[in-house]
Amino acid sequence: MSFGKLLIANRGEIAVRIIRACRELGVRSVAVYSTADAEALHRRLADEAHHVGPAPAAESYLNVDSMVSVIRECGAEAVHPGYGFLAESAAFARAAEGAGAVWVGPSPEAMDLVGDKVRAKELARRADVPTVPGFDGEGADEQRLAEEAENIGYPVLVKASAGGGGRGMRAVSRPEDFAEAVRGASREAEAAFGDGSVFLEKLIQDPRHVEVQVVGDGYGNVLHLGERECSIQRRHQKVVEEAPSPALDPELRAEICAAAVRLAREAGYRNAGTVEFLLQRGEAGDDFYFLEMNARLQVEHPVTELVTGLDLVHLQLAVAAGEKLPIPQAEISPRGSAIEVRLYAEDENGLPSGGRLLDFNPPQGPGVRNDAGVAPGDEVPLDYDPMLAKLIVWAPDRPTAVRRLRSSLADYEVSGPTTNLPLLRRIAAHPAFAAGETTTGFLERHRLSEPPANKPIPREALLLAAAAELSRPPTSTDPFSAGPWRLLGATRLRYAAGPHTHEVLAERAGGKRLLLRLDGNETVVDVRHAGPPDLRVVIDDSPVSARVSAEDGMIFVSYGGETYPFGKPGPPGVEDSASGTTAAGLVAPMPGTVVRVLVSVGDEVEEGQLLLVLEAMKMEQPFTAPHAGRVKSLPYKEGSLAPGGAVLVGLEE
Ligand code: ADP
Ligand code: ADP
Ligand code: MG
Repeated sequence: MSFGKLLIANRGEIAVRIIRACRELGVRSVAVYSTADAEALHRRLADEAHHVGPAPAAESYLNVDSMVSVIRECGAEAVHPGYGFLAESAAFARAAEGAGAVWVGPSPEAMDLVGDKVRAKELARRADVPTVPGFDGEGADEQRLAEEAENIGYPVLVKASAGGGGRGMRAVSRPEDFAEAVRGASREAEAAFGDGSVFLEKLIQDPRHVEVQVVGDGYGNVLHLGERECSIQRRHQKVVEEAPSPALDPELRAEICAAAVRLAREAGYRNAGTVEFLLQRGEAGDDFYFLEMNARLQVEHPVTELVTGLDLVHLQLAVAAGEKLPIPQAEISPRGSAIEVRLYAEDENGLPSGGRLLDFNPPQGPGVRNDAGVAPGDEVPLDYDPMLAKLIVWAPDRPTAVRRLRSSLADYEVSGPTTNLPLLRRIAAHPAFAAGETTTGFLERHRLSEPPANKPIPREALLLAAAAELSRPPTSTDPFSAGPWRLLGATRLRYAAGPHTHEVLAERAGGKRLLLRLDGNETVVDVRHAGPPDLRVVIDDSPVSARVSAEDGMIFVSYGGETYPFGKPGPPGVEDSASGTTAAGLVAPMPGTVVRVLVSVGDEVEEGQLLLVLEAMKMEQPFTAPHAGRVKSLPYKEGSLAPGGAVLVGLEE
């Protein structure tokens, strides 16, 4: 017994995850999409889809009125909010119920109770669950807060009551920095959540983040599905999550899980939720403190699914449809070890990176699960959370799961937007991770957030780029067209990597064999299969496989567990002067992502006007008009990659 039709009020990975569950259950799925997601995967997969507004989330995925119209229009019997966006909005839950749909989540009353961090801590104390020492901030001015910070003892953490996703939080170690931290956290919370109220907590030094999955059925049954450890975080946002936690012994596990169930019962909790705790290593053993409760499905729910064998979305829908939980607590026994990593479209500094996904090839194999919100060819908009997909591995024991994670990450191939794959690989490779020694300060302690010094480009990567380029039929719009087979004699190919340009001199050597000269050495490359994206060649008698894709003057070579992005600089000194267009000052000095385009073709601009912003080498670079004129061409749209040497704006005097 389930619903006939379910509206999924979300996008990306989680919308896709829920649509798949609908298919398995024979439920008709209804997607919503913004203008930016008109062709997105979740829209393509759903049985039915409705537009909810323009790209900005506030006008689409956060637009309650729009969502409610769709519920009425399509006659959805239930609404699944996913995570993020409206998932924790009691107002939306009420509106959905008002429109006649069942809310796949807790009651709006329970959401109100746990949604505010300060109220949730009061609830925890009533349920006899330990909380982090602090001050609730209610009605206190800055002076009073500062006094309370002294009472708690520095370092303290200023937190937004409405906070989420790691935002609205400031650690303060000295009284002189306190006032500014309060203002900063409050401003950030006001902007992100429309509620600037803050409270204080003792800053626990380098704790672990351990959370417990619970699910209630509204008939008095509340189960826990064990814990997850999510200590590895970047700016208070989880990056790696696992189940079970390597830090708990059976007694502590029983205690922390029982505390989570007590709290859920106290809240009258129905459906799936997560009770988050901090675990502090103490002399007399470990202490845990309640942090917050998330009244929704969590990003990291798959690790729990893999160790328990239960499908949380199926359970959510069953409970929402009024069924009782199908299993007793005694029958839930986690098996093995599961680890999830979040793949983000972001650079080494954590700045989001958009554009078209030229290649997206998640790893496969026993014990490997991929929950992805994208497919090759998809545009990654810059308007939303930059998470693309999650890789989840399972193995009978943790050491095997860690090895499985490492080899799966080595196989992961993504081209186009920059991703955090290098960071994920560094984490997975670290001995402290293998040892299970993970705390919230993990990335800083092991200096993993800092990108390592640039590694030299392997010779093979350049040879592979050249082989791909010379083996593809030319088309008018891609950079491969620079080097068609039919060229006689030697062809000069240039590849820009960071500040360096590499040159490959190519000649045909009969059949599909190429003679490539790089840094004065000659290599014979025999092309067996030239995709795209799969490329198989024999380099000096060794068979090599890689994936190569190209667009917008960039070539990406995935080879040996790394992806190398190369810019394709044009011949030096070429300017589009014949057509009366100047490019002075408007040429990308190096490959980068166009993050903002502030003008349109045909616009009249003034000297000094900001035209475009390029993000290159992790820095934003503004491009302004060198003189007044008319915009003649804008070859790169927002989110696309521009190669080094590319003309970004064509300007006519
Ligand atoms: P989880 O607790 O499930 O690990 P995260 O904190 O990483 O979740 O957030 C998951 C997603 O939800 C992210 O897209 C994040 O930006 C978003 N998110 C979390 N809390 C909020 C909130 N209160 N308001 C808006 N978005 C949120
Ligand atoms: P969010 O709603 O953004 O998820 P949380 O309250 O769950 O906020 O905290 C997110 C993360 O911030 C925690 O996992 C932890 O790393 C850190 N954190 C929160 N409170 C404290 C604290 N009192 N001491 C130390 N770290 C904390
Ligand atoms: Mg949290």
